[in-house]
Amino acid sequence: MTSKEQPDTAKAGADPSDTAPGTASLTLDTAWTVRWIRRSAEVLAASRAALNTLDRDIGDGDHGENMDRGFQAILPKLEDLADDTTPGAVLKLVATTLISTVGGAAGPLYGTAFLKAAGAVGSASSLDAAALVVLLTAARDGIVLRGKAEEGDKTMIDAWTPAVNAAATAQAAGSAVGAVLLAAADAAVSGAQATEPLIARKGRASYLGERAIGHRDPGSQSTTLLLRAAADVAAA
Ligand code: ADP
Ligand code: MG
Repeated sequence: MTSKEQPDTAKAGADPSDTAPGTASLTLDTAWTVRWIRRSAEVLAASRAALNTLDRDIGDGDHGENMDRGFQAILPKLEDLADDTTPGAVLKLVATTLISTVGGAAGPLYGTAFLKAAGAVGSASSLDAAALVVLLTAARDGIVLRGKAEEGDKTMIDAWTPAVNAAATAQAAGSAVGAVLLAAADAAVSGAQATEPLIARKGRASYLGERAIGHRDPGSQSTTLLLRAAADVAAA
């Protein structure tokens, strides 16, 4: 963490009282969590058509619509949160909203991801880099629990698993939360790109056999957007 980055990260919702200048001890709080979800809703709305197009190529064309509907449904619920709302409580609200409003595979999959992430962070009021890795790992594990996909099956897991691995590596090397999120977001992008040459073994795209080759998995793309939003609001 450089002295230049310090005030920016503090402004982004890190608790300044937790911050020892020049160390990797910055944390993410409820304000960051809320900003993450709001930014995600914004980006998913802007990417609705592009995600639908990816899903039209190898699915049924509704992934952008599904994600946009789910995240728009969360926004009003973020307006009147109690002062003592924890990051975990926000994640749980996201989970229940996605599960109840999004049809299709992505609703229960992302819903389970946010539910498991909420459980993993518990009632903590702020998250350090280690807790962030726990959050991301639990989210990925939730998707695997629900969808049983492995890396290489051409699903959102192909973005999540490299992201979790990169986050864990960055955290182990002493990176601050912002850098851990950046590492995750960048690895997710590479993972999503790497779905293009694959044959799908899970989800609707698996019905297409070799015709799925050359197309990016839409869920891996929405994962890159969610993780980039997380990194962006930590750095803003
Ligand atoms: P549906 O396929 O029901 O129309 P969406 O279009 O919203 O739902 O979501 C499709 C995305 O869901 C895929 O691009 C893929 O990333 C993800 N997906 C589908 N099945 C699985 C699974 N079993 N495990 C993980 N991800 C999956
Ligand atoms: Mg679809």
